[in-house]
Amino acid sequence: MTTPQQVVLRDAMRRLDMTRDAFADRIGCRRRTLDTWLLPDESSEFRAMPEIARRFVQEILERAAPRSPDSTQSVYNDGLTADAGGAMRHLLSVEQFDREGVEALFRLADVMQPIARRRKVTRVLEGAVLANLFFEASTRTRVSFGAAFCRLGGSVCDTTGFTFSSMAKGESIHDTSRVISGYADAIVVRHPEQGAVTQFARATYVPVVNGGDGPGEHPTQALLDLYTLQREFSRVGKQLDGAHIALMGDLKYGRTVHSLMKLLGLYKGVRFTLIAPPGLDMPSAIVEQAARNGNAVEVRSVPGPGLANVDMLYATRIQKERFTGESIESLDNRFRIDRSFVEANCAPDVVLMHPLPRDSTPGAIDLSTDLDRDPRLAIFRQTDNGIPVRMAIFAQLLKVDQLVQKSMRDATWTAPSQVGPEDTLE
Ligand code: ASP
Repeated sequence: MTTPQQVVLRDAMRRLDMTRDAFADRIGCRRRTLDTWLLPDESSEFRAMPEIARRFVQEILERAAPRSPDSTQSVYNDGLTADAGGAMRHLLSVEQFDREGVEALFRLADVMQPIARRRKVTRVLEGAVLANLFFEASTRTRVSFGAAFCRLGGSVCDTTGFTFSSMAKGESIHDTSRVISGYADAIVVRHPEQGAVTQFARATYVPVVNGGDGPGEHPTQALLDLYTLQREFSRVGKQLDGAHIALMGDLKYGRTVHSLMKLLGLYKGVRFTLIAPPGLDMPSAIVEQAARNGNAVEVRSVPGPGLANVDMLYATRIQKERFTGESIESLDNRFRIDRSFVEANCAPDVVLMHPLPRDSTPGAIDLSTDLDRDPRLAIFRQTDNGIPVRMAIFAQLLKVDQLVQKSMRDATWTAPSQVGPEDTLE
C-alpha cells in the first residue's frame, strides 16, 4: 500500500526543514498546488500528486538525507526500562527523543490523521487494554489518551482521583504498578508528585506513559505542541531552526513548558524569551541545559516588551494548586493575553499557543476568549492533534506502527467536516 501523499510531503518538509514556499520552489510546483496536495483526501480542493512528483520528492530526500534502513523503526533513542526481552519501552520524558525520533513519531501521527478525522478506522489494537490512571485532575489528557487507544481498536479502563484509589489506603506505587500490569497492555499515569511516574515504570514491563508528573514533565503534551507548531510554521513560512519562542506564565510549575523547552532544544539556534511573574521562573536546570545547547535565553518578568519578533508565544496557566507559599500578588493584568495585548506587542504572523485549560472566568489573568476566531490562535488545533500524536505513541510502544496503514478501512458513519466553529485552517 502506498504511503499517503500528505504523509510523504509533510515528512519531506520536516526532514529537509523547509517551509511550504521553499519546498514548492524546490520541487518546481506552485505553492497553491502544494497546498492542494496537502489537504485531506475528503476536501473538495484536494488534488492527487502526480507519480512523477512523488518520485522526485523521494529522490531529493535520498540525496539530502540518506538514512539507515531502520532509522524510522524506533522512536526512542534510549528508553528508561526495557522488558525482560529488551522490547518494551516507557515514555517518561522528552529527553528520550532525538530529532530523528521526533520525525519518525510525527510521520506516524500523519498516517493516523484520517483516523483522527474519523474518515478511516483500524483495529490494530483489538483486544488490548489501556489502564488510564489519573491521580490528579484532567479532562483532555485523560480523554484523548482513551480516545486514541480506542481509535486503534483497543479498550480503556479508567480511574480518576486519589481519594478513590488504593493509594489512599496506603498502597505503594510499586504495588499499584505491579497489580495494574496484570490487567493492562499499556498504562498512562498522571500523578501529583514529580518522579512518581518513573517510579511506577520501574515496577512493570508493561509500557508506561507519563501523563504529567506534578511539576515535572508532560512529554506527550510537548510532543503534540511541537507537532502543531511545526504544522503552523510550515503554513506561515517559518522554520523551527532559528525560531524565536516566548514562554509566558507560570514557568516554575507549568510542566508543559518544561517539556516543551527541552524538546525545542533539539532544533538549531532556537532563541527563548521567558516571561514569568517573580517567583514563578523556569527552573534553573532547564535554563542551564538550554544554554549548554547553545540556545540564547532571555528572562523577563514584565510581559509585552521584546515580543515583536517572536515567532511563537506559548502561554500557560498559573498553577495555583501547586503553590507552596508563593503569592500571586505580582500577577497583574499585563499577564492577560487578549486581542489588544497581541495587537500591541506581537507580529502579525505570530503563532499563539496554550496547553489548556485556560481560566475563562471574566477578568481572569489568562488567555482571553476574544482571540478565539483569530487564525493565529492554534489552541484547538493543539487539542485535536493530541489524538494522532497519542495514537502514534501507542502504536510505537505496542509495535503495531507498521500495521496501521494497511489495516485502515473506511469509517461507516459520516463525521462533520469541521468539528468546531473555529476550524477554518489546514
Ligand atoms: N493541562 C496541562 C497540564 O496538565 C496544563 C495545565 O494544567 O495548566 O499540565
